[in-house]
Amino acid sequence: MTDTAFSVDPANIPAVKRWLAAQDDPLEQLRSIEIDEILIGPGVLLDLPFVLRRAGVTPGSKVLLVVDETPMLREDVDLKRFVRDLLYVAGYDETTCHLEDDEYGLVHAEFEDVEGILWGLEPGTALIALGSGTVTDIAKHAAYLYDQRHPEQPRLVYICIPTANSVTAYAANMAVLLKDGVKRTLPSRFPTAIIADLRILASAPKAMTLAGLGDCCARFVAYGDWYLASVLGLVDFYSEIPLALLNNLDAILLEAASGIGQRTYKGEAILARALLLAGIAQSVVNMSAPISGTEHVTSHTLDMIAAHYHRGLALHGAQVGVATLAAARLYQNFLDKFDPEAVLFDACYPQQEHLQIHIYQLFQHIDPTGAMAGECWSDYSKKLTQWHDNRALFKQFCLSWQSIHREKLASLVSPPRIVQQILSHAGAPLIPQDLEPTISSQEFDFAVENGHFIRSRFVLSDLLYFLGA
Ligand SMILES: [Zn+2]
Repeated sequence: MTDTAFSVDPANIPAVKRWLAAQDDPLEQLRSIEIDEILIGPGVLLDLPFVLRRAGVTPGSKVLLVVDETPMLREDVDLKRFVRDLLYVAGYDETTCHLEDDEYGLVHAEFEDVEGILWGLEPGTALIALGSGTVTDIAKHAAYLYDQRHPEQPRLVYICIPTANSVTAYAANMAVLLKDGVKRTLPSRFPTAIIADLRILASAPKAMTLAGLGDCCARFVAYGDWYLASVLGLVDFYSEIPLALLNNLDAILLEAASGIGQRTYKGEAILARALLLAGIAQSVVNMSAPISGTEHVTSHTLDMIAAHYHRGLALHGAQVGVATLAAARLYQNFLDKFDPEAVLFDACYPQQEHLQIHIYQLFQHIDPTGAMAGECWSDYSKKLTQWHDNRALFKQFCLSWQSIHREKLASLVSPPRIVQQILSHAGAPLIPQDLEPTISSQEFDFAVENGHFIRSRFVLSDLLYFLGA
């Protein structure tokens, strides 16, 4: 194996399962992968009827196809119509569920949409998500809730057909949905099968492929956050198996970046594999931590404040890429400059009441009802309590900074130079002004500075805040 090859090919699910079974997991903490098959190739969409049949859905059965309102092409052919015709010719009884856009032409992952899909499901219906991140999250979660509500029925067949290489959601058993205007990652389920058709992926808008590259880059900083959370007592589970699954990701993306930017099938295939493996990497540990830290809370905060600034949402992964670069710079600065001997321990533990007021003030102008601040505080306060309860671990961390943690942390995060090269070789956004719609430095800085207040996941910016940096 070269240093630009993946540890295992996600298009070979039996090999992925063997790879996972061979990992050292003495406490049996790893989740199994409940995906039957993943197809990646320029013509694999045509296999849809065979995938349905292999999943036990015979011709004549009902199929609910979930799409949004975005026009989509597969080369020069109308994609949604093509899929409907494919199902019709194969003898399936297809119904389409259209998710509605907002005023900016975007679908939000709301529970109402999930319930809307649940209405259309009955025993034996197969669910197909034909879309990118939001369509996938909504359909996936409907499949999950259907299974939960109908334990007497066989697991619902849910097929995922990504229409863009834009996010890691496709192979993940978690869904991101809005709760009181705040993005929350919820337990959900795996798809029965994923059909990653390169003709579809290469026909998606270029910005979406570049966003997928940005989302993958999260791995280069998020692992540092997870490690910090683990050694500081903010999380009780840490594993480097997802890291091994995504081994060599920096070299792979660096080598593929220009092909990804040029939309070659080879570039799209590498990015599809990276995104699918990243989805599997978070699923095996049942948490998004391996690929979601500082950069994701920054991106989620940018989404939360968008309406206040009268703008639509920029693509998730594009924001994540820009935020990863910012986070990589924070890490480099921290690795270079953190001086444990200069830490004023008593000043690192702000009172609960003080921070509660601070969070309400931060979000007051964005959501005057206080619901958003309330949702943030309910999650954040858990983290604050744990931080207070684990003072001894922070002392220990400072004592062994030079001997252990500095070097370890440096091995888990990538220098900003590498992240910048990957993004720039593909032509991906590097600064908030490159995003579409463009985001001001003022908004971006707010999100970088305050993103850690929106949820309980501990990240580097929490530590920097407690240090008064
Ligand atoms: Zn993401």
